[in-house]
Amino acid sequence: MTALGKTDLKALAKHAAKARDNAYCPYSNHPVGAAIVAGSGKVYLGANVETAHYKGVCAEASAISAMVSAGEREIRAVVVIGPAMEYLCTPCGDCRQRIREFADEETRVYSLWRDGRLGQEHKMSDLLPLSFGPENLIEVGALPAKSPKSKKKTVPNKAAAKKTNERVTKKRNGDKNDSPGPKRRRTSR
Ligand code: ZN
Repeated sequence: MTALGKTDLKALAKHAAKARDNAYCPYSNHPVGAAIVAGSGKVYLGANVETAHYKGVCAEASAISAMVSAGEREIRAVVVIGPAMEYLCTPCGDCRQRIREFADEETRVYSLWRDGRLGQEHKMSDLLPLSFGPENLIEVGALPAKSPKSKKKTVPNKAAAKKTNERVTKKRNGDKNDSPGPKRRRTSR
């Protein structure tokens, strides 16, 4: 799946808006909702949750936590809806890194206006160019676990790590000025 169709986006906008209605944001009064389409096609929702010590959790982070807690490790699309019509609510810097962890070149991030209309659509490499990600750690041999199922298989598998390293190195040598984004990790299908 690459870009979402209009129908999918409309449905996801509704889900995200519903999550936004449940946001707990008494300090910022800036409710945000997020809907994530994971590798399985399932949708995970999140809302921002603030606390009195001002260390709140963003809607995207909430949705990612729900996705990971359900055993998924792949983000196909993220839909974010904020409360405003003048300043588009795109993911914050922290969340861009969080999304990036589970994204690839095909992942799309849709930022919506308050009323659910599409504001902007981005690729991960647009939102976070020249990013640092799991591949950086794979290259030095610290291969991160990708899914509960693949954990045993991938961590001790040096051959697979070597192959990935070669791919990363090849890619890096091919284009040094552009952030290619992570590769799709098809480990849970
Ligand atoms: Zn955020």
